[in-house]
Amino acid sequence: MIGVTLDRVSKTFGGAKGVEDVDVHIKPGEFFTFLGPSGCGKTTTLRMIAGFYYPSDGRILFGEQNVTNMPPNKRNTGMVFQNYALFPHMTVFENIAFGLQVRKQGKTEIREKVTRAQKLVHLDGYGERRIDQLSGGQQQRVALARALVIEPNILLLDEPLSNLDAKLRDETRQEIKRLQLELGITTIYVTHDQSEAMSMSDRIMVMKDGVVQQIGAPLEIYNRPANRFVASFIGETNLWEGTVERVEGGQADVRIAQDVLLTGLAANASPACKLAAGRKVTLSVRPEAIREAGPAERGEANMLSVKVRLSEFTGVSVNVIAEAGPLSVKALFVGQGQRMREPGEEMLLAVAPNSIYFLE
Ligand code: ATP
Repeated sequence: MIGVTLDRVSKTFGGAKGVEDVDVHIKPGEFFTFLGPSGCGKTTTLRMIAGFYYPSDGRILFGEQNVTNMPPNKRNTGMVFQNYALFPHMTVFENIAFGLQVRKQGKTEIREKVTRAQKLVHLDGYGERRIDQLSGGQQQRVALARALVIEPNILLLDEPLSNLDAKLRDETRQEIKRLQLELGITTIYVTHDQSEAMSMSDRIMVMKDGVVQQIGAPLEIYNRPANRFVASFIGETNLWEGTVERVEGGQADVRIAQDVLLTGLAANASPACKLAAGRKVTLSVRPEAIREAGPAERGEANMLSVKVRLSEFTGVSVNVIAEAGPLSVKALFVGQGQRMREPGEEMLLAVAPNSIYFLE
């Protein structure tokens, strides 16, 4: 197992920015994900680690070894591409064996290793099938076996699930996670899908416009987002602007509308956000931090009187989008007895004072 260090790595394409100043240490055996919207620079970063692009600036280390300018075939990384990049007219066996043949390994050794790799991804017995006779999920597993058979030090996965349908995607992500835990291989995963990133990763690096926004464990990023972009990209959130009226004993009161004062809010704030009376702040309130209140609670602290705009059933929760004057409110209700809400329906909602996170 080896780690990967990106030491202030940048990449420009003919003067245009690709990624800027990426500085991170990926630990040996870690499942590490680059997450962000299209064009944020995650593939470019992965390609520099694979050696398909060379950085314009900075260094890349595998363990202690500087590989910044080393060609891809010398790096011993295994890569799975979004479109799998398999040879369609060759068999499963031939596809998986390809990297071993290039490395001039013996016939018996190749057979043994390919058979083992096929087992690992549950494709035993499929060796003689041609790639164009396989389903998308099976092709994905061939690509994975082909990357793993060379016994790479680092596994690189570029949106490997995006061509699969939703159910197969769920199964395959569990499968990839199982393999990674079983092999203990340092894995770098690229995706724009936050739920994929959250469910698989030890740590996530969130990127936007070529710049790293935050690095941390999934829960840490969810609960303590560094800024508005991270807060809204990772899961859903309400971003309400307000003015701090009082801070005392680890609690804050914040006015978020002329007639709405939230009080006794736990003063959990991002490092960039200074909580002090008179300051403008953004509150990130997760939809699950809002519950429906009973009529007897009207008039108590942190109640919002809202009018429903629309509701949707996701299979797990009923999500409601509502308005409290100028304020837009997203709330999410789970559990027994949930029902759809009609547009125009009035509801009383309670905001949990300990579940708010303050942003600059
Ligand atoms: P996607 O999810 O769409 O693949 P991404 O986050 O992986 O997006 P990159 O492909 O890394 O983003 O692209 C980052 C930036 O670098 C983009 O602005 C892109 O246009 C630019 N870029 C990437 N590759 C090249 C290239 N070969 N030549 C010129 N510009 C490039």
